[in-house]
Amino acid sequence: MNYCSHCGSVVSLRVPDGDNRPRYGCDRCGRIHYQNPRIIAGCLAVHEERVLLCRRAIEPRLGRWTLPAGFMENGESLREAALRETLEEACARVQLESLYTISSIRHINQVQMLFLATLPTPNFAAGEETLEARLFEEADIPWEALAFSTISKALQLYFNDRRRGTFPLHHLDIDGELLQPR
Ligand SMILES: [Zn+2]
Repeated sequence: MNYCSHCGSVVSLRVPDGDNRPRYGCDRCGRIHYQNPRIIAGCLAVHEERVLLCRRAIEPRLGRWTLPAGFMENGESLREAALRETLEEACARVQLESLYTISSIRHINQVQMLFLATLPTPNFAAGEETLEARLFEEADIPWEALAFSTISKALQLYFNDRRRGTFPLHHLDIDGELLQPR
């Protein structure tokens, strides 16, 4: 941040009185501009044992596969955000089941929340930010071409949980962007 969104003056990074970490503060009007993590909502949607993946048409990770997910908008609920992102990216109308993963992605200040979902009919297509949408059997998941470590982790958990027949909520702390080999 360079300029104050309130008065347009230059901001500087300093620890405000009574605070314990640096914040952007305006040198003229004194306003403190707090920055906090953003929430990403999405779906791990399944149709007859196959998982819906999207190949990204945008950076970052253009050309790599991901689950439909994106930034939550003001004024919507987490469920609404997950449904909207799935509709936008995969043109798919899913039924949300349980919340499945909550990942704190510390190094980019994001919290990603993925729902398990059912895709009742195999109706889907590539949305504007997607090159291709496809249903994958477990054996065909493109592990080496996944876009994000959170997606890789969620898929690994899902297939393991499916073998056990139980889908508990998983709470993850992600510290790096490197994809974990399975
Ligand atoms: Zn200002």
